[in-house]
Amino acid sequence: MMLDCAIIGGGPAGLSAALVLGRARRKVLLFDADRPRNSVSSASHGFLSRDGIEPAMLKSIAQKDLLQYPSVAIKQTEVVHVKKNDKHFVIVAMDKGVYLAKKVILATGIKEVLPNLTGLKSFYGKSVFSCAYCDGWELRDKQLAIFSGHPGTLQLIKILSNWSKNLIVCTNGNKPLDEETKVSLQSKGIKVYEEKIAKLFGDNGQIKIVHFENGLEAQIEGGFVSPEWCHPGSLAKGLGCKQTEKGGMITDSMGRTNIIGVYAAGDNTIVSPSQIAIAAGDGSRTAIGVNIDLTNEEFIL
Ligand SMILES: Cc1cc2nc3c(=O)[nH]c(=O)nc-3n(C[C@H](O)[C@H](O)[C@H](O)COP(=O)(O)OP(=O)(O)OC[C@H]3O[C@@H](n4cnc5c(N)ncnc54)[C@H](O)[C@@H]3O)c2cc1C
Repeated sequence: MMLDCAIIGGGPAGLSAALVLGRARRKVLLFDADRPRNSVSSASHGFLSRDGIEPAMLKSIAQKDLLQYPSVAIKQTEVVHVKKNDKHFVIVAMDKGVYLAKKVILATGIKEVLPNLTGLKSFYGKSVFSCAYCDGWELRDKQLAIFSGHPGTLQLIKILSNWSKNLIVCTNGNKPLDEETKVSLQSKGIKVYEEKIAKLFGDNGQIKIVHFENGLEAQIEGGFVSPEWCHPGSLAKGLGCKQTEKGGMITDSMGRTNIIGVYAAGDNTIVSPSQIAIAAGDGSRTAIGVNIDLTNEEFIL
């Protein structure tokens, strides 16, 4: 069977694209390896009408909605290869299935690379987060550590001061702030620790203490960290899609990449800001782009 569109990635971007294309009566197969970026989190915030929902529940509601549309199917498997032929795409999945599609949407998300701090992984998504807009409200007014040593640290401090005035900054041996800035932060009650971090301590996902290598320690109730974002773009690269310096896929306003028939949506097109609402909106817009292109190819006067 020739699919109208193969959607690779079943997070908010891919699910939203599948919904729009299903409602447009397009034959769609959504492939999902089911390794979402926010899997460490127990609640998703800020998505209209679903504030605080468990990420897996949001996904299951969206999948259920899709199955109302007979031309849409979901396959839980990883796509390992996509090849462009003259007129269509050949999609090879981990389950050894081979599928043909007229169009492909890459909605594969991004992966986060956390700074190498002992203990961080057990707190990430529970009491340490990366996005203030997603989780700042839950940590409001608490004693928070900002784990950041890169040049964007000052901006992060400014933004987070909206949610809590009780901030410390842990640069882990880096020096992203000049003396004048540090003095100015100190006058606002924000202490900057430039010592190397030995380990983060707490229990049941709740961070409590930052231990520094010089023996100092700081008591905290939560934190924010700046992960590196990596675009696992082997499919995009294999197809020859253009990417930004940071690996985000470059698209036009309807999700079209430089390769005709290949579209991209969601976190894999951007680095920041990234939220479920933004990924879902991007998926919807890209699906409309796919449907416009298919219609123009089919409806020839
Ligand atoms: C800790 C944390 C907390 C967050 N909290 C919030 C929040 O509260 N509110 C909010 O709005 N946003 C939150 N976010 C951000 C949000 O999770 C993302 O912006 C959103 O999930 C992006 O959607 P996406 O569809 O682009 O990618 P993802 O949700 O990452 O989905 C991509 C999917 O594609 C699949 N995939 C990848 N490659 C392949 C392949 N080759 N074949 C098949 N499938 C593949 C993956 O397995 C995955 O299931 C949070 C993020 C993190 C890390």
